[in-house]
Amino acid sequence: MNLTIDQDRLLSEIEALAQISDAEPPAVTRVVFTPTDLKARTWLRKKCLQQDLAVRQDAVGNMFARWAGTDETAAPVATGSHIDAIPNAGKYDGVVGVLGGLEAIRTLQHSGFRPTRSIELILFTSEEPTRFGIGCLGSRMLAGALTAEAARMLTDASGETLEHVRKKADMQGDLESVQLESGHFHAFVELHIEQGPLLEHAHVPLGIVESIAAPASYQLIAEGAGGHAGGVLMPDRKDALCAAAEIILTIEKAALASGSLDTVATVGICDVFPAAVNSIPSRVRLTLDLRDTDLARRDKVFRAIENKSRAVSEKRSVSLQFQIVNADAPATCSSAVTDALVRSCSKHNLRFQKIVSRAYHDSLFMSRIAPTGMLFIPCRSGYSHRPDEFASPEDIARGTLILAETLAELSH
Ligand SMILES: [Zn+2]
Repeated sequence: MNLTIDQDRLLSEIEALAQISDAEPPAVTRVVFTPTDLKARTWLRKKCLQQDLAVRQDAVGNMFARWAGTDETAAPVATGSHIDAIPNAGKYDGVVGVLGGLEAIRTLQHSGFRPTRSIELILFTSEEPTRFGIGCLGSRMLAGALTAEAARMLTDASGETLEHVRKKADMQGDLESVQLESGHFHAFVELHIEQGPLLEHAHVPLGIVESIAAPASYQLIAEGAGGHAGGVLMPDRKDALCAAAEIILTIEKAALASGSLDTVATVGICDVFPAAVNSIPSRVRLTLDLRDTDLARRDKVFRAIENKSRAVSEKRSVSLQFQIVNADAPATCSSAVTDALVRSCSKHNLRFQKIVSRAYHDSLFMSRIAPTGMLFIPCRSGYSHRPDEFASPEDIARGTLILAETLAELSH
């Protein structure tokens, strides 16, 4: 089978989708279930129908476009990603996996290939947490990692519930019907830009993902005692910010001491109360984002952080509360999928690198219900989630070719 990707067609579709945006070009803003997002979905649906794909949408708006295989009873092979974009983002994150997936199917159709298993293109709802505060909403629900009951409680910043917004957007059925059982798909493979600089630095055009790191996020609240910055003498203070400062450094040290570069810990928010120039900070809220590819190691680092932070708070007579915001497990990619990706790269003498996905993706949740793999292409300087995000046409076409061949092999 000799496949030729229509690079120009694919690129013009990426440009066309980027026009459906709430930001000034080249920036793209497409927040889930806004009129702009719905317009983009309609545009994509039409493209899928033009290829004779059978399109179905579930209750949370995940879209499945199916190219029927010769054995309709066999579990399908799926590919896909997301088209929602955070405010002021670029045009490639997610989109390359959706339109690349469509182009892969189109290329296989034109080549005369007939799959045994059906091939489905999936558009996942709200991979970005922009509107409802939770990432991978669609794939999370597909995998049963977010219950319908919990999903119904989600609201956006204006107080609109997910339930209301999705019904207004004509997404039919109960949220209970979204979850798919393990085994529903034979395999899932997602094409995505790397969102990091490693492939570009190594001058390697393709990355085959071995594992997907997953974040755990926590909220820490340190409570001491406030007072007048002049009146309370140093030995008598219970300064919550001084405690928080020591805790932040403890967190950094614990991540560095894990023994692996795959452990990363970040305190991104430090809210100080009352935040007045002449008042001793009485309360501080910190957020901790802790990521790793290995769940046991992540848990161990978290326990070290917790113990050492408690020691700091005791020493400083400040109370400390830890709250888990979320803690998703990392995923290991399926060798059945990664081996197929490797075979396709080798066939074309394309260099590839085994890589860890440090951002998380819909694949993280798909891996809970299907053997899953991911293919990365480089993006300039590793930039993503900004208007100057860029992947070269050649890299996009190359990734799409490997995706098409991998779908062919897995669906055969
Ligand atoms: Zn993405």
